[in-house]
Amino acid sequence: MHACRSRQLLLDYVCMTGTRRANKRVSIKSAKEKSVMGRRLSARERWIALLCKFMRGGGEPQSKRYWAPDVETASRNKIRAIQEEKLAAMLPYLYEHSPFYRAKFKAAKLRPAEIRTRADLLKFPITTKREMTADVTAHPPWGTYTPIDDRRWRETGWMVFSTSGTTAAPRPFRYTQLDRELWETTSARGIYAMGIRAGDLGLTCTTYSPHVFFWSLHYTWNLMRVGIVPGGVPTERRVMMIDLYKPTVVAATPSYLLHLAEAMSHAGLDPTKTSIRRVICAGEPASGIPSTRHRIEQAWNADLHDVYGCTEAVPGGWAFTCAEGLKSNPVATHVAEDLQIWETVDPVTFEPVPDGSRGLSVVTNLNSEGSPQLRFLVGDYTILDYDRCVCGRTLARARGGFVGRADDMLNVRGINLFPTAIEEIVRRFDLLGDEFQIVIETEGVMDTLTIVAELRDASVAAEVESLRGKIASEVSRRCELRPRVELVAAGTLPKTEFKARRVIDRRRAL
Ligand SMILES: [Zn+2]
Repeated sequence: MHACRSRQLLLDYVCMTGTRRANKRVSIKSAKEKSVMGRRLSARERWIALLCKFMRGGGEPQSKRYWAPDVETASRNKIRAIQEEKLAAMLPYLYEHSPFYRAKFKAAKLRPAEIRTRADLLKFPITTKREMTADVTAHPPWGTYTPIDDRRWRETGWMVFSTSGTTAAPRPFRYTQLDRELWETTSARGIYAMGIRAGDLGLTCTTYSPHVFFWSLHYTWNLMRVGIVPGGVPTERRVMMIDLYKPTVVAATPSYLLHLAEAMSHAGLDPTKTSIRRVICAGEPASGIPSTRHRIEQAWNADLHDVYGCTEAVPGGWAFTCAEGLKSNPVATHVAEDLQIWETVDPVTFEPVPDGSRGLSVVTNLNSEGSPQLRFLVGDYTILDYDRCVCGRTLARARGGFVGRADDMLNVRGINLFPTAIEEIVRRFDLLGDEFQIVIETEGVMDTLTIVAELRDASVAAEVESLRGKIASEVSRRCELRPRVELVAAGTLPKTEFKARRVIDRRRAL
């Protein structure tokens, strides 16, 4: 970002209260300054000054290969120094403005000043969704886990994002105008790394609900001068838009991308021969499930990229697949380490796992005014790899992406089972369609696992018996559970319009 724009942002955000005319005469030479207009900066102002200092990229890439090369290819020492400089400013801000985090500090007998390094950070206990849910239930409707109060929200509010609240109270997050600016500039890095450029045309398959991915993509494409076709509903309209307006990129959940390709075929159009060159997935694992990735790439004759993040900790620039890393096996997803600190922990003890080991994802968000979370357990399994990527980026990579959310894990007859493991198997069978369900029931005292999958079309009906046997054997071999397999005609199961509902667990209804 240009220094003058950064300085203007700083002025706008630091000196909010009725002194705008005076602000124009203030000269802030660097974000390190401790005072402005003759007074010391508050913890909030120091944090905002630092966010502005590290904002990168403006509306143009800073090199041909990288949007923000100085941070994307920084040495490991430089990345660590940025993280620690940000921690030193963020923790007092969070302590002062979030009662939820202040209570966690006190319970752990810690002061913000005692956490200066990444190693120190491990002293702070993991933050869970369950804790946040209890907080928002006790302090409705916003909870106290963000540093935004009603006054700050009125002054600088941009948008509320929220978890769905289907299984517990919805957890809302109030993001500010500064967050929006951080969002578009940092997310542009990932989109640029995928090979998307000004002049591309993107179709978004969303109704613009409070889902962080599509809104951030929208603003990022605005910044990068990527044109947007808002897909709206229904699916038939999106099919028509692809045919008529010729977008080069389409963004959707992976389940929906398969449904959309099928809808194109039904409309007499060939999805492998459209203008689409890249698809971007979010909301469900995609690139990390090889058979799903292969199926989507084949269906669209396009490269599949995906982004990863969570409602609780944005704008973090997302984790993203780069064009070169996409060809590696397993696929690699970069995490933006100057913006967020990522760790992997043991699912039972929450202790850090050794480098190169599989663990649950945990994020500390160093890039937000509205939601700078601390050691938040996102809860997907991955392995972090700190070697330099073939693309030249030094940012760590999640090897194999983020696959298998701990919350989604099923326990069937004492065996832990991830729905994504079943997906990986089912999607390998070309004779099957795109929709499937995993049904778990209780018969007597035993849990039963049934996989219901659609046949590709009527022409494969003769294969049903052998197919059932092959699927059951493969699931049995890889998941240690022998399932029943029901194969049904194409079009029997509900179509996925956004995120798929794959698991029907009838045990919970009892
Ligand atoms: Zn890379």
